[in-house]
Amino acid sequence: MIKKIFLLTLLVMCCVPCSSQKEIKINSLPKLVVGIVVDQMRYDYITRFYNRFENGGFKRMINEGFNCKNNHFNYVPTYTGPGHASVYTGTTPKNHGIISNNWYDKFGKRMVYCASDSLVSPVGSASQSERMSPRRMKTSTVADQNRLHTQFKGKTIGVAIKDRGAILPAGHTANGAYWFRGRDEGKWITTSYYRSELPDWVKKFNASGKAASYLKEWNTLYDINTYVESGTDKNTYERGFKGKETATFPYDLAALKDQNSGYDIIKSTAYGNSLTADFAIAVIQGEQLGTDDITDFLTVSFSSTDYVGHNFGVNSKEIQDTYLRLDKDLERLFNTLDSKVGKGKYTVFLTADHGAVHVPSYLKSVKIPAGYFDRNAFITKVKAFVKKEFGVGGLIKNMSNNQLFFNYEKLKENKIVPELLQRTIAHFVLQEKQIDKVFTRHQLETGEYTSGIGALIQKGFNQKRSGDVMIVLDPATISYSKTGSTHGSGLTYDTHAPLLFFGNGIQKGSTTQETYITDIAPTISALLGIAFPNGATGKVLSFVLE
Ligand code: ZN
Ligand code: ZN
Ligand code: ZN
Repeated sequence: MIKKIFLLTLLVMCCVPCSSQKEIKINSLPKLVVGIVVDQMRYDYITRFYNRFENGGFKRMINEGFNCKNNHFNYVPTYTGPGHASVYTGTTPKNHGIISNNWYDKFGKRMVYCASDSLVSPVGSASQSERMSPRRMKTSTVADQNRLHTQFKGKTIGVAIKDRGAILPAGHTANGAYWFRGRDEGKWITTSYYRSELPDWVKKFNASGKAASYLKEWNTLYDINTYVESGTDKNTYERGFKGKETATFPYDLAALKDQNSGYDIIKSTAYGNSLTADFAIAVIQGEQLGTDDITDFLTVSFSSTDYVGHNFGVNSKEIQDTYLRLDKDLERLFNTLDSKVGKGKYTVFLTADHGAVHVPSYLKSVKIPAGYFDRNAFITKVKAFVKKEFGVGGLIKNMSNNQLFFNYEKLKENKIVPELLQRTIAHFVLQEKQIDKVFTRHQLETGEYTSGIGALIQKGFNQKRSGDVMIVLDPATISYSKTGSTHGSGLTYDTHAPLLFFGNGIQKGSTTQETYITDIAPTISALLGIAFPNGATGKVLSFVLE
C-alpha cells in the first residue's frame, strides 16, 4: 500500500510538467528529418579537422546542436550495408538480418548482395545489374514508422552514390530511393520497387550535365602546404588512379576517366559528395520536402568519403581535402534547408556507417602492431586440416566475412556432429598467427556475452544467416591491398563514429558517455512521438532531446 501511494505521488509529480511539455512538443514537430550518414567517417575526423572547418557545416551542428563524442557500433562486421541498416532500424544484424554487404546464403547456396532483388527492374539505367530493393532487411526503419504513423502522408526519400546507402535507410515504404549509376551513364537511378519511371525533376537533374561538370581537375581546396593535419601527399600507402603514376594532387579527372570506369571516377573523389549534395538539394525542391506540417524524412549518405579512404587511406591529404569539401557541401545543404523548410523547423542527425583503420603498412612503419592476412592461404589450410582430421573433403562450404559456413548435408551424410566440427576448427585456427580470437555457433547460441568482442560478434550474429565459426583477426590486421584503408572489425578504429544532432527538438551540448549506433532510431522516434522500428533494441538518448 505504501508502495502504491508512493508510486502514485511520483506519477502525479512527474506527469504534470511532462504532459504540458508534451503538448508543446506535438505542436512543434520537425517538418523534415534529415538523416546523414558519412560513409567511413571516423570520430576523430571531427577533432583532427575541427580548426579547418568553417562555421556552416560540421561546426554548425556541433555548436548549435548535440555532440555524442563516444558513440560506437555495437556489433561486427562494421560494413556499409549493416551500418546503414543499424542506424535506421535501431538494431543490429542479429535482428535486421543485413549481416554484411555480401554474404553466403546457405539456403540458396550462393553469395547474395544486401540490396539485390531479382524481382525488380532498373528504372533510369540500361544496366540489368541495377536490380535493387530493401527486401533482405527484415525489420522496419524509423522512416517506415513515420510513414505508418502519418498514414503515408509524410514522405521518405533516400539518396546516396551507393545503392545500399540510399535503399536501406529509406526502408520498405519509401516514396523513392536514388543512387548514382557511373560507368558510361552518369545518372541518378532507381528501380521498379519504388516506381515505374523517374520523376521529372530527376530526369531534369540527369539532363542538366551536373555529373559531367565534375569531370574536371581535382586539386586541394586550400593550399596543400596548409594541410598539416595529414601525412605527405606522396607516400607508399596510397593507390591512386590508373593512368597516373603517383597518388598526388592535382588529379585530371577528364583525362583519367576512360581508364577508371568513366563516371565512376567521380565517386572516388571529393566531388562525389558535392554531386550528392546537389542531388539532395534537388530532392528537397523536387519533392517539396518539409513544406507542410506532416514530418517528411530525407536520408542522405555521402559515399565518396569511403571510396577515398579505401584508395588513399585515413591519413592522406586526399581524405583531408574530401572532408574540408564535405564541410562546404553540408553548409550548402543546411542553407537550403534554412530557406526551403525554415531555421529551427527541421532536425538533422549525422553519423557514419563504420570507421576505418590506419593503413597497416603505415602503422608498421611507426612501430604499431599491424598486418595483412592472406585469407585464401588460410582457407586452404583449414580445409586441408579438416579433410585430414575427418577423412572427408567438402565439409566447409564457404568462408566470407571471417565466418566459415559448413556443408550440413555433407556433415549429415558422414554423421559428423556440427559442434564437434566447430570445436575442432576453433582449436586449430587459434594456433594460426594473426588470429586473435575465435567463436563458434554453439557458443553464440548457448551463452550471452554482455561485453567485449564476444558481445559484438553475438549482436552481429544472425542465427539463420550467419556462419558456424567466426574468426577475429589481430588488431590492425586486414585482408586488403597494401595501399589504402578498410574496415570491418570490432576494434575502436572501426566502431567509434561521430553522432551529431541539431535543429528542432534538440538540446545544445555534448557528452562523453557511451552511446551506440542503435540508439539513433529510437531517439528520433521519441522526438517524433512515433512507434519505434519494430526490431529496435537501442535506447532513447533523452539528454539529446529538449
Ligand atoms: Zn561504408
Ligand atoms: Zn596522395
Ligand atoms: Zn568501405
